[in-house]
Amino acid sequence: MKQESLSRKPCVNAHHHHSTTEAAVREAVRHTELVLCDSCGAIRYEQKWQWMKAPANIASGRCPSCTRVYQKTPAGYIMLHGDFVLDHRNEILSLIHHIETRERVLDPLKRIMWVEYQQEGVIVTTADIPLTHVIGEALLRAYKGDLDYHFNEAKVLLFVCWKR
Ligand SMILES: [Zn+2]
Repeated sequence: MKQESLSRKPCVNAHHHHSTTEAAVREAVRHTELVLCDSCGAIRYEQKWQWMKAPANIASGRCPSCTRVYQKTPAGYIMLHGDFVLDHRNEILSLIHHIETRERVLDPLKRIMWVEYQQEGVIVTTADIPLTHVIGEALLRAYKGDLDYHFNEAKVLLFVCWKR
């Protein structure tokens, strides 16, 4: 056992390989700096997805929000409950869609995914945690009621519960 560990040489090749890989990754990032999302037309430029005119020969890919839509994996759930919600469902949903439209002009990733109508309320899913939060705050500001937030354990999923 002892002899075996003494005979081990420093792993120069592995180190060399490591830095080559890093350089390759840096190069790849540089080349894919500009990416066009095939689905929504947003462009990733300087690490940020934004609305801009696509240059010629741009690489194509898929933005995180379109990936969420495709995989049906929301970042946020807005749960709306209560009699007021049921009585003013359309009005509340149009406020939510209005906020989405306003936010999405500035950031392509801020998006509502789907709306689920249930007997006791409505569930709105989003592709973006900050948007989920903004919508919760807007509901509280517009209609009062009770607002409650909780993240899942990994903090990658935000639940907003609003009751009125
Ligand atoms: Zn997209």
